[in-house]
Amino acid sequence: MGRHYVQVHLPTTSAPQAPGSPMPQTKKAPITHSVSTASLDLNTGARIPQVGLGVWQAPSGRITQSAVAQALQVGYRHVDTARVYGNEADVGTALRESGVLRSEVFVTTKLWNNDQGYDRARFAFDASLKRLGLEYVDLYLLHWPVPGQRLDSWRALEGLFKEKRARAIGVSNFLVPHLLELTQASEVVPAVNQIELTPFLQRRETVALCERLGIVVEAYSPLTHGKRLSDPAIKVIAEALNRSPAQVMLRWGIQRGTVVLPKSVTPARIVENASLFDFDLDAKAMARLDALEEGLVTGWDPADEP
Ligand code: NAP
Repeated sequence: MGRHYVQVHLPTTSAPQAPGSPMPQTKKAPITHSVSTASLDLNTGARIPQVGLGVWQAPSGRITQSAVAQALQVGYRHVDTARVYGNEADVGTALRESGVLRSEVFVTTKLWNNDQGYDRARFAFDASLKRLGLEYVDLYLLHWPVPGQRLDSWRALEGLFKEKRARAIGVSNFLVPHLLELTQASEVVPAVNQIELTPFLQRRETVALCERLGIVVEAYSPLTHGKRLSDPAIKVIAEALNRSPAQVMLRWGIQRGTVVLPKSVTPARIVENASLFDFDLDAKAMARLDALEEGLVTGWDPADEP
């Protein structure tokens, strides 16, 4: 990761106040970070850019290539793909054509369920690298906690990590029981857990356990897959800040200390979803967003997985 990746320091909105003194004017916080520079520490010593472009359901071919190319052009330095998305080759093409140094971009792909098991996982990883046209990935994830196979798959990922072909390894859709089982049975603690996470689905116990274990949480479907973008509470906060509902949801994830992975293939939205670092949600707005928890799962629920 380039030297210019810096830790996010969230601007403070108000200074301490003596009792009875008039409210201070809100000062505009200096912009000290951007979509290119905001990043978090991984337990490997590397850093992970806090905003990544998701490409699930981005059709393979020109559409994915253009979305990734545009994202890199506007400053994204993180792309989240998976074998099952069918567009790893397009992500690789866009990266190569972008002119951005390989070392400057954080690339994640994932092991799909029918490739789980020790030998199959190693074979699937090689095939993903080949499609991406890369010599290594920055992060390789177990896409799903497949019962009976996830521990063998994890052993394969530990090997890939030791060989430095996966610079970090992690899991996705792991809830508390899956994480406890994995960390008790294995050597390498996952660097990341990628889970569905929004104000409407906060997975507090899983997030707290990840925090305790030093695992970075990545929020997938951070825009609720589009399902709550017109929620009235989100709208009120967005209008007060002159921002979009999408930006409010993403900023919530940033301030909660997670990585956010918005997907878009629409040029204006790709820019919008990266414009998260020149405003701030105050404590009241954060509390309102926290109060939206409703257990909304928009995809598959890993709680069903033994
Ligand atoms: P999402 O990012 O929550 O929402 C994407 C949807 O919102 C698309 O329909 C997109 O449309 C639209 N959109 C994007 N930006 C918008 C904006 N600013 N205003 C209004 N609409 C906007 O959903 P997601 O694709 O489910 O999740 C994001 C990423 O998370 C995925 O691409 C993938 O990388 C990851 N993910 C991982 C897993 C897992 O199991 N590990 C599961 C799901 C997702 P357009 O594209 O047409 O603009």
